Amino acid sequence: MKIPFNKAQFGPEEIEAAVEVLRSGVVGGNGPVGRSVEALLREMLGVEHALLTTSCTHALELAFMVLDIGPGDEVLLPSFTFVSTANAILRCRARPVFVDIDEASLMLDPQKVKEAITPKTKAIICVHYARLAAPMEALLDIADRHRLTLIEDAAQGIGARWNERALGTIGDFGCISFHETKNIVCGEGGVLLLHDDRWARQAEIMREKGTNRSAFLRGEVDKYLWLAMGSSYVLSEVLAAILLKQLQKVDAITERRRAIFDWYYDRLQGMAKEGRLTLQSTPEGSEPNGHIFAFRVRDESERDRCLAEMRNRGIHATFHYVPLHSSPFGQDELGYRPEDLPVTERVAKTLTRLPLYPGLTEPELNYIVEVLDELLP
Ligand SMILES: *Cc1c(COP(=O)(O)O)cnc(C)c1O
Repeated sequence: MKIPFNKAQFGPEEIEAAVEVLRSGVVGGNGPVGRSVEALLREMLGVEHALLTTSCTHALELAFMVLDIGPGDEVLLPSFTFVSTANAILRCRARPVFVDIDEASLMLDPQKVKEAITPKTKAIICVHYARLAAPMEALLDIADRHRLTLIEDAAQGIGARWNERALGTIGDFGCISFHETKNIVCGEGGVLLLHDDRWARQAEIMREKGTNRSAFLRGEVDKYLWLAMGSSYVLSEVLAAILLKQLQKVDAITERRRAIFDWYYDRLQGMAKEGRLTLQSTPEGSEPNGHIFAFRVRDESERDRCLAEMRNRGIHATFHYVPLHSSPFGQDELGYRPEDLPVTERVAKTLTRLPLYPGLTEPELNYIVEVLDELLP
């Protein structure tokens, strides 16, 4: 058997929608299809503004372009995340300050966030990892007390909710990804979510090369002009058309992923009770989206042996993440040492992710669990 880690799935509807846009010849960005995707996202997620971008990385960068954050400022974030979270901070020449995670939730530890705040701190980026929300109640409270901007890296968060609120719509800014590896896919793509009208106006100008082309397209001005520094972060209509069809299936996709997650969880309960692995529970008030199935084993050598042996048997399981603070850039350029964030180090050494995508079959799932049972005595 050969089981990939992930497999994006498109039906005839995505293919037809992409072809239709190609036939129309209107393939640039910020067109009618993109605008209807943005309207759908606003309604689906419950947010004032949704700006499609070329990636979640770019949505994060756009948030920082709008904010008045720069040299001398500090932004708090986890080290247990993807590089884009930190790059967005570095691109505006502010300093990323890594904060350790909580060992149970694998997300920012609010107590350590509080301890990391200095007079230079301007913002917090929280990461919603795997399928659940970061500790939003505590983070909203901290951000409010210290007047910090709260940015949600909800790259993995489409379809998930916390206290009935969609991930990415809880803080000041939210960024979601539609990359090939995520639950809803258009190839490369993302969206910036926000409630504030003034910031939204600035973001749509910066997304359109620093011009008011968006206002022009709405018929609000009769020609569009260069108003600010900007870049080009608009999503092509071809990708927007694929995204529209994917988003129309979000409930079914989320349900299927959650069913696979629950299946793994139930089947691995026995091994967890015997102390052979550690599973992640689902806290009250959260509505997970089944993005990642992750568990931890006892130590790094067992994890690496387990991953290598699974690959030998055709199962592409994988680790997560190489922590940013102990990466070459984190150590050489930012001056961190691995031991600065001990929980992050421990988690990253022992975390294992199993294949999870809607097309996984029951024989494949059975095979994965049988192999695991044998590899983790
Ligand atoms: C995938 C991911 C990103 C980057 O998303 P892109 O759309 O590929 O730019 C950023 N942060 C996290 C936590 C991610 O998982």
